[in-house]
Parts: sequence; C-alpha cells; structure tokens
Amino acid sequence: MNGRTDQSFPEIREAVRKLCAGFPGEYWRAHDRDRAYPAEFVQTLTREGFLSVLIPEAYGGSGLGLGAATAVLEEIHRSGCNGGACHAQMYTMGTILKHGSAEQKARYLPAVASGDLRLQAFGVTEPTSGTDTSRIRTFARRDGDAYVVNGQKIWISRAEHSDLMVLLCRTTPRDEAAKPSDGMSVLLVDMREALGNGLTIRPIRTMLNHATTELFFDNLRVPAENLIGVEGKGFKYILDGMNAERILIAAECIGDGRFFIDRASAYAREREVFGRPIGENQGVQFPIARAYAQVTAASLMVDHAAALFDAGQPCGSEANMAKMLASEASWAAADMCVQTHGGFGFAEEYDIERKFRETRLYQVAPISTNLILSHVATHVLGLPKSF
Ligand SMILES: Cc1cc2nc3c(=O)[nH]c(=O)nc-3n(C[C@H](O)[C@H](O)[C@H](O)COP(=O)(O)OP(=O)(O)OC[C@H]3O[C@@H](n4cnc5c(N)ncnc54)[C@H](O)[C@@H]3O)c2cc1C
Repeated sequence: MNGRTDQSFPEIREAVRKLCAGFPGEYWRAHDRDRAYPAEFVQTLTREGFLSVLIPEAYGGSGLGLGAATAVLEEIHRSGCNGGACHAQMYTMGTILKHGSAEQKARYLPAVASGDLRLQAFGVTEPTSGTDTSRIRTFARRDGDAYVVNGQKIWISRAEHSDLMVLLCRTTPRDEAAKPSDGMSVLLVDMREALGNGLTIRPIRTMLNHATTELFFDNLRVPAENLIGVEGKGFKYILDGMNAERILIAAECIGDGRFFIDRASAYAREREVFGRPIGENQGVQFPIARAYAQVTAASLMVDHAAALFDAGQPCGSEANMAKMLASEASWAAADMCVQTHGGFGFAEEYDIERKFRETRLYQVAPISTNLILSHVATHVLGLPKSF
C-alpha cells in the first residue's frame, strides 16, 4: 500500500522479498546482539544469484545493471534485512571489470560471480587522512616482483569475511607527485595469504552490526601482478567505482525509508489510544505522509542516477545527490517511525530501534553529507572552492 505500483524489476523484487521472509527480525536481532556476521543470509543471496547482477554474462553474472541491483538492495532493506554484510560483493569487482587486465578479469570475475571468491573489502579510509584521500599514507614500495606495503587503514568493512580486498595506497609520495591525486595505486590483496604475513585485522565494535575493522600493514608483500591498471592512477579508478556504491547505498536508504513507513502506517492503523486509532489524528498521519513524500522523491533521484549509470553517462553529481537525499529521507522516516510507536519504538523486538541505528550510518559513510554539498556547490554551481 505504501509502494509505487509501477516499480521496476517486479519479478526480482518479489523473489528478494520471498528470500528475505526466511530471515525475520529474530535472525537480525540475534546477530545484532552478538555483532555476528549473517553468513546464512549472505550464502542464500549468493546462491540465488542476487550478488552477481552487475557482472557481465561473459564472466558468469547476469549482467542486468545497476537498476536491477538497486531493486535487490531496496527490497532487502524494505524487508527489515540489511545488505551491508555483502553489498560490496556486487560492486567492488567494478574496479577489476573496468580497469583490470584481460587476465585479471578471466581469473577473478567468474569466481566472484559464483561466490567462490568473496571480493567485498575496499580499503581507502585512514585514521589520519579522513575524507582527504590524497593524504593517505599507506605506502606500497616496489621490490622486485612484489610491492611491500606498510601503513594503516580504518573502517574497512567485511575484511574478515573477504578473500580479496581492493586496496588504495601511495606509490609516490604526495609531495613528489605532479598532482595530489596522482601517485596512488590500486592493489588486489589476497587476504588469505596476507593475514598473519604482514596484515593484522582488528574489529571495531560500533553502534550497528557492520563487521568493520582496522587494518595494519607491516611489510606485507603483494605480487606486482596484483596491481590493477597503471601505477599512480589508482585514485581515478577508485572514484569510478564510487558512483555505483553511492547509488546502491541510496537504494538501501530508500528500502529503509519504506520499511519505516510500512511499519508506522500499520501501527498507526492498529494502535488505539483515547478510544480510536492513533492514525486518525492528523498529528500522527502527517509525519508519515511527509516521510512518504520525501522517500518517494529521493527514490526518483536514485532511479535517475542508476539510469544514467547504466547508459554509461556521467553521473557523479546525481549519484552524490541521490545518496544525500535518500539518506536524509530514511533518517527522517526513522525518527518519525520511533515517534509513531511511542515507547514501543525503543523495544528491541519491534526492530525499529535497530533499523534506526542502521540507517543513521548513511549520512556519514560512504561519504558524508558535507562533502556532497561541497561537491554540488563547487562542481555543479561553480561556487568557489573552500579546500
Ligand atoms: C561503519 C562504517 C563502515 C565503513 N566502511 C568503510 C569501508 O569499507 N572502506 C573504507 O575505505 N571506508 C569505510 N568507512 C569510512 C567512511 O567512508 C568515512 O567514515 C567517511 O567517508 C567519513 O570520513 P571520516 O570518518 O574520516 O570523517 P572526517 O573526514 O574526519 O570528517 C568528519 C566530519 O567533518 C566533516 N568535514 C570534513 N572536512 C570538511 C570540510 N572541508 N567541509 C565541511 N565539512 C567537513 C565531514 O563531513 C564529517 O562530518 C566506513 C565508516 C563507517 C563508520
């Protein structure tokens, strides 16, 4: 009743909803309580082929494109589940697909498509550089047929549940590069070989169950053949992948928003106070209606950005705006849903407080709202740069 009837990919949505019905609130609450990885959920999504929709058919995926991928993630989140445990398995491979050699594509993509290889860790953020990626310090020094990596990363999600990681490091010091964004390179790190041989992973407990970690590199040797693309051009490759990530995360926010609206509408119809359903009061109705309008508007932006991406058109600004609008709409819907539920909004068994914590992340990661506003101000509107 709260969804659009003309939604894209109805068969995919229906299949995802059915799959998610097997992973009800109790499943997520138990994993959330223990900060445990939802392995059965991820295995089921993998088996049903939902994580390989972006991989071309030639490499064993379904090659359906980003529009289909947004439908998958939106439905996962609308169902009360969370795609954060595995969404990066969908898009991290894009760096290999777009910039890898023919040999790298043939070697890795079919195994990523089948789920035999998990490529869902993406190492960019560092404790001292924050959003200013040009200041990362993790350094890869060439030594014969290998790179020797030293440094530290933070907030690297799913590192303990990934066979491979796309890692951004400096190969030329910042002050020796032609531009601050030059001199960074992308390496594909085999986590199975690296762990205990120069790579240490330390989990970080956060307010949501996100399997995020801190990584320490101490003379980790990575074969030189694992360099993706051209040495020194890695920043551009990472930026290329970020549009897909932002659009997909935006779709998760839309799913969260619809979850909150579904739950709030149902509760407002049923809960009786002062002898009538609370939903009869306009003071309760209007915030739900407002959240619906906001989520619907943001979802149009997500569809627009995904359509541009699938058409091979530039979509950086649209991907950013979609992520910002969707994350703000889902957060407003979360707040509304807690308010509609009164005290029960705080009870674990309603799943609303869990979803409330989960959806808050997206105004900070994978990119914070201020940085998006700065992009729009300077790149779209031509305002002067502040940094
Ligand atoms: C749960 C979780 C999972 C994550 N997973 C990953 C991952 O898998 N891989 C990865 O590489 N990273 C990951 N991240 C990192 C995430 O991308 C960063 O946290 C995010 O980009 C913000 O960077 P920061 O934390 O360094 O904040 P900072 O850059 O330190 O910024 C702090 C605040 O200041 C604001 N700010 C900074 N500079 C400016 C400015 N010039 N103008 C206005 N405002 C400014 C920011 O908007 C932000 O609100 C994850 C983070 C979290 C919390």
